[in-house]
Amino acid sequence: MQDFHYNALPIDVYFGVGRSSQVKDIFLEQGYRRVLVITTSGHEEIGKELSDKLGNISRGVYPHAVMHVPVEVADKAVKFVRDSSIDCCLALGGGSTIGLAKAIALKTHLPIVAIPTTYAGSEMTSIYGITDNHRKTIGKDVNVLPKIVIYDPELYLTLPAQISACSGMNAMAHAIESLYAKDKNPIVSMMAIESIKAIKSSLPIIIRDLKNIPARQQVAYGAWLAGVCLGSVGMAIHHKICHVLGGTFNLPHAEAHAITLAYSVHYNRNADIRAMDKLAEALDVRSREEIGLAIYRLNRSLGIRMALKEIGLPEEGPDKVARIVCDSPYYNPRDYNYEELKGLLGKAYEGVPPV
Ligand code: NAD
Repeated sequence: MQDFHYNALPIDVYFGVGRSSQVKDIFLEQGYRRVLVITTSGHEEIGKELSDKLGNISRGVYPHAVMHVPVEVADKAVKFVRDSSIDCCLALGGGSTIGLAKAIALKTHLPIVAIPTTYAGSEMTSIYGITDNHRKTIGKDVNVLPKIVIYDPELYLTLPAQISACSGMNAMAHAIESLYAKDKNPIVSMMAIESIKAIKSSLPIIIRDLKNIPARQQVAYGAWLAGVCLGSVGMAIHHKICHVLGGTFNLPHAEAHAITLAYSVHYNRNADIRAMDKLAEALDVRSREEIGLAIYRLNRSLGIRMALKEIGLPEEGPDKVARIVCDSPYYNPRDYNYEELKGLLGKAYEGVPPV
């Protein structure tokens, strides 16, 4: 066995159906008394319901989170929080909402309690992103790591099929890339395999039956594990490609992840053989050659749009993305090959199978 370093994240996690309704007790236990609920404008009503449950310890709802945390939105929120003597931010929503809470915590060091409603996994990481003038700066800071995360599968019931599918595959991407991370370790790899199996088995059930609580529980469980993977070890080529797709071409985050994953893992299929054999087993395929195709077929069965051109990548995209990825690569267990990547991204652009 390879030597490793494992660093557990100091987050209290509560998981269970209806758990978010006990949020006031959790806050009181932790000594928080002036809580600001943060949401997007679309989630303001659910935010108000939660704020009502908090009663006298709520300082109301701040419904101004938007995608990619624009710096102006972050600055305004920081000023609001400083002027209101808040002692904790409660982020209720997906990665965009948790992203705004992180931007506030970065400047104010206020604790975050997160109640995620998508499978993106931001709640389990100390990674933040802020967008200034169309450029997203990513950083790591322990102050943005939520103190408490509450997973309540009931809150995902309203997540539409398309978002559920893409967000679930976004989570699977975190788990998969952690298997061949530079700083991989046995605990995180175990979590990753468990996550992949939970998502693979239950995401198709959700798409057929959005209100299926056991399936929602399983995918939330898989997303939690995937979030731990993302927060614990470094990511590789797939995340690099997706950061270019999002940063340079403004493609939607979860959909870009979902579509591209089949091609990134096909590129890496023979790079870290032990990791990829484990992945093949988790996906229930006979060989590493079939991994990319298995993910491609899973996406199709989930009704995910299959082609990058359908979600806004221009024709010159595959060439440009391959070039940027090769010019400023992340760690990857396999070298970056521009021609091969361009070819695979060309297939992702058209939505044809990776093999
Ligand atoms: P999001 O938060 O923008 O949510 C996607 C859509 O789902 C939105 O339209 C939202 O209104 C809707 N939605 C959310 N929950 C819902 C629910 N329960 N019912 C109905 N609709 C609901 O997107 P996301 O994919 O969760 O997060 C993406 C963002 O998070 C990106 O900016 C990404 O960079 C960031 N992110 C950061 C990290 C990190 O570690 N820092 C990790 C993952 C993602």
